[in-house]
Amino acid sequence: MSAISDVAVLGAGIVGAACAFECARTGMSVTIIERGAVASGATGAAMGHIVVMDDSPAQFALTKYSQSLWEELAPQLPASVEYYRPGTIWIAADDEEMAEVRRKHASYTSGKIHCALLDGKALADAEPNLRQPLTGGLLVGNDAVLHPDRAAQYLISEARKLGAQLITGHAARSASRGRITLDHGEAIHAGAIINAAGALSPSITPGIQVKKRKGHLILTDPYPGYIHHQLVELGYLKSAHASTADSVAFNIQPRLSGHLLIGSSRQYGNEDPAVDQHILDAMMERAAVYMPSLSSLTTIRSWTGFRAATPDKLPLIGPTEDPTVLLATGHEGLGITTSLGTARLLADHMLRRPAAIPIDPYLPARLTTLQETR
Ligand SMILES: Cc1cc2nc3c(=O)[nH]c(=O)nc-3n(C[C@H](O)[C@H](O)[C@H](O)COP(=O)(O)OP(=O)(O)OC[C@H]3O[C@@H](n4cnc5c(N)ncnc54)[C@H](O)[C@@H]3O)c2cc1C
Repeated sequence: MSAISDVAVLGAGIVGAACAFECARTGMSVTIIERGAVASGATGAAMGHIVVMDDSPAQFALTKYSQSLWEELAPQLPASVEYYRPGTIWIAADDEEMAEVRRKHASYTSGKIHCALLDGKALADAEPNLRQPLTGGLLVGNDAVLHPDRAAQYLISEARKLGAQLITGHAARSASRGRITLDHGEAIHAGAIINAAGALSPSITPGIQVKKRKGHLILTDPYPGYIHHQLVELGYLKSAHASTADSVAFNIQPRLSGHLLIGSSRQYGNEDPAVDQHILDAMMERAAVYMPSLSSLTTIRSWTGFRAATPDKLPLIGPTEDPTVLLATGHEGLGITTSLGTARLLADHMLRRPAAIPIDPYLPARLTTLQETR
């Protein structure tokens, strides 16, 4: 059997789901191919923090833009997605981290992100369960939280209402020159192919610089009101930047349901999806440094997922040397946030529409050039 559509999206994580929805909205015919089930990759393992980050101007532009798209979409999201905006507090444990809080405050303010500096007392008032004293923090009020797999399910169902076809349980074995071969031999033809296969995207487009970066999360019983914001230690940034060593950092999220989600870890070179008790212990120990009473809460589940990491910590969005294959991958720890911006940028590119932010910093060609000049 052979089917033809304008666009084939490979992978039904949050990025593929967003791309399918965005393309279907513009009237393109869309086929989504997912080797497992919707959100069975990193999306189903993620925290769902919709967060603005400023490690680089390009990261700031994409996270800010994407967050605004989530805000636009929010009124349409079903209640099951549990979207709300508790805001983030970046916690400074010492003067060095407080200096980083001030830098972040200046950078966000000049980028028109509403935020406020907290001293130690204001931080303790905002989050009484934090250890005291702490030096201070930065409250970023617009950051949101959602249930990532339910958000992906919603985007896929909206795409299907617009006529998109979903094929699950079959992997794309290869994709080039407008032709996708599935694992059971079926061929699908499409004018454009979007590789949104996350950490597995290099298996479809060999040679792209995406590596697996394992992460663990822990879920507790519901404790409504235990915390009021997503709380992240500033050391999280060091952990996210580390390019080789295993790292853990304190990051805790209050879900709308009252459950708490405790993160997070980062590991390269470990492709075993099994939960590692040593890493869980290290995460809980780190969390207890910031929130001593956490150790007495009941945890009900832990799991792992694989982020898709690129060498320069920016996603790959846009065309490849094969004019029919586009990439939407490499979103590392920010793909829930940046899925909507990624999809809009790709659709703008495909339809030659003006984009709200330049696509250039995310174009896959930048890494090819980087490789060639080494
Ligand atoms: C522990 C953890 C916490 C995180 N927390 C956050 C957070 O708070 N905020 C945030 O913004 N991001 C977070 N992330 C990052 C986020 O989860 C990812 O960036 C995002 O889910 C990437 O989405 P994706 O659709 O590209 O990839 P995936 O969700 O991995 O989806 C790819 C899909 O492609 C399918 N696939 C693979 N190969 C094939 C093939 N050959 N054919 C067909 N289908 C295929 C897979 O089955 C999968 O469903 C977190 C990640 C982890 C691991």
